[in-house]
Amino acid sequence: MTILEGAEPGPTAMISALIHGNELCGAVALDRLLSAAFKPDRGRLVLVFANMAAFSRFDSAHPYASRFIDEDMNRVWSSELLDGRRQSVELARARELRPFAEAADYLLDLHSTSLAAPAMLLCGTREKGLKLAEKMGYPSHVVADGGHTAGIRLRDFGDFDDGASAKSAMLVECGQHFDSASPTVALETITAFLMACGMLDGAPEDFPLAPSRAGQHIIEVSHSVTIRSEHFYFSAEYQCFEVIAEAGTRIARDGTRDVLTPYDDCVLVMPARQPVRGQTAVRFGRHVTGSKA
Ligand SMILES: [Zn+2]
Repeated sequence: MTILEGAEPGPTAMISALIHGNELCGAVALDRLLSAAFKPDRGRLVLVFANMAAFSRFDSAHPYASRFIDEDMNRVWSSELLDGRRQSVELARARELRPFAEAADYLLDLHSTSLAAPAMLLCGTREKGLKLAEKMGYPSHVVADGGHTAGIRLRDFGDFDDGASAKSAMLVECGQHFDSASPTVALETITAFLMACGMLDGAPEDFPLAPSRAGQHIIEVSHSVTIRSEHFYFSAEYQCFEVIAEAGTRIARDGTRDVLTPYDDCVLVMPARQPVRGQTAVRFGRHVTGSKA
């Protein structure tokens, strides 16, 4: 972990990479910031390489195996689990990082996807998340979602998901895990995030500036489909953001149950590459225009 102080006072932001040990783009982007001796113009910036234990097991012959050691580190961010007695590699590390997450006014959590998908911000369900996403203006896809049945994400931890608090968090999916463009997307998102937080006046020299705004596509997630059986399969090879025209279309089979789209023009968000019981298979959402204000 590294703390970078700006020349002027300002907010505190945390940027985390490697919450999932095989999602390398965030680590490459943070390494770039560190090797360029980057500093914000104002405020305090905390850079975190979250799950180094899992990352250190990365093996290019089994690139999906090092997502975590004991459990998904992006499902443990509830005070019940963090204050509880259960032990795991990921819980121990989350407990170390907790005070930094609690001290942050803003959080950006860097991720990538198993399947090729456009880069997207996951802004949560609160108005403040959508406002921060709109202020960032990049990447152009914004998904307003409530997370997973399997556990609380860092993005939704504590005050970040409290409508009464001004603290705000963003998760970014920078493209596919091993796409060579994903680290650049991560760096562009960092620039857009720090500018939106008022911590940076412009991209430093040699850094990619976030591309100019081309309008955002906002998708409001209504359902998270959790896998109930050992026998789940999709009806087609979905990637991400397919729009299914008719309500009641079967998109998957889960044991003896058909998984049907709940309404017309239903958007499929991040179908799982490898369905696992108890985890999220896909999310259903709708395209909306502008903020909900
Ligand atoms: Zn991830």
